[in-house]
Amino acid sequence: MAEPQTGVAQHAGRSAGQAQPRAGLAHLITELQGRGLRVEVALESRQGGAGPADAGMLWIDGFAATVPTSADYVRTSPYALRAEDEGWGVYRDGERLASAEPFRRPRYYDLATADGVPYWQIALLHLDSLASTVIQTCAYWGNSDQCTFCGIGVTLANGRTIAKKTPEMLAEVAVAAKELDGAVDATLTTGTTATPDKGALYVARCGRAVSEASGLPVEVQFEPPRDLAVIDQVRDMGIHSAGIHVETFDPQVLARIAPAKARTGIDGYFRAWERAVAAFGEGQVSTYVILGMGEDPDLTVAGCRRAIDIGVYPFVVPLRPTVGSLMEHMTAPSPEYCETIYRRVVPYLAARGLGARGVAAGCARCQACSAMSLLEGSAEKNGRTYLPILSNR
Ligand code: SF4
Repeated sequence: MAEPQTGVAQHAGRSAGQAQPRAGLAHLITELQGRGLRVEVALESRQGGAGPADAGMLWIDGFAATVPTSADYVRTSPYALRAEDEGWGVYRDGERLASAEPFRRPRYYDLATADGVPYWQIALLHLDSLASTVIQTCAYWGNSDQCTFCGIGVTLANGRTIAKKTPEMLAEVAVAAKELDGAVDATLTTGTTATPDKGALYVARCGRAVSEASGLPVEVQFEPPRDLAVIDQVRDMGIHSAGIHVETFDPQVLARIAPAKARTGIDGYFRAWERAVAAFGEGQVSTYVILGMGEDPDLTVAGCRRAIDIGVYPFVVPLRPTVGSLMEHMTAPSPEYCETIYRRVVPYLAARGLGARGVAAGCARCQACSAMSLLEGSAEKNGRTYLPILSNR
């Protein structure tokens, strides 16, 4: 069996800029993210953590992608990762569809702090993005406010991380991840704290330490703080991008899957985003929009377009049912549904002049959890699109 190749730096991934984004590859990645990929080898993966999670990480035709590999429904996926004489390929019914390169364990995972904390317990490498949940507890976890898709407590319970990372720890790991494994940015998130700033200032302090030590651009993710002036303080700490995640634009679904976020309300998110766009600039503020939780597709598209109108990048992703979350028994949404939503959102983004390549750091820069950015090059600025007719397979 071929040895998985390493090296984030040599990939011509999305962050490095691909000459011709390919709608066909977008379709394949959407399929893989919906149906999963059967693997014969263990892939480096993300399991648990804040927000939607649970995914194997690999490069498909040079593009970063996270795809389900361990969920039960993956066993029936028609897609398989196979070793070849040289490298790997994605196959369906014996037909080779794309080259693949599993993400190899980063070198910095073998290091530890002077106190003996392994670097991999402080921050993981998600393909080419250093990622950490700086406070691995959440005021909503374990009570009626817990977000149903979230697995933040799972990783902590499994002993795969520590409860709180310090700015100093993260700075040390970021330097190593950049120098040894080619990390190109850092994505820092936090569980929500029971303080008026909701944890925004601590994650921003961590981000400042990472940026100052490593020079990496940093995205920090947090809930809308009670006083929106906190967003300006986050910006003043040298943070490059902000993720403020509403998760869904369907208010009924929001109330069911994230009761605390529902109390902020979708208009509350828009108020926070307006302040954040004023602070960070258009395209540097993003929100996750998770598909497959029972949402109304028209409300979803309308919400994405309203966000785009004020300069927010809606990062549309399929649900990844996380083991240990309240949604662990759900399945991912159909690829056809996801691609339909992408096709309605991406041309609008392009018409507004927004795109993944303009994002400095974070999930919307990385794009591995969605096929959206692969469609960006297929959309005309006038909002029309060349995207292909969907397959019914
Ligand atoms: S706010 Fe929701 S998604 Fe974020 S860490 Fe808490 S429970 Fe998870």
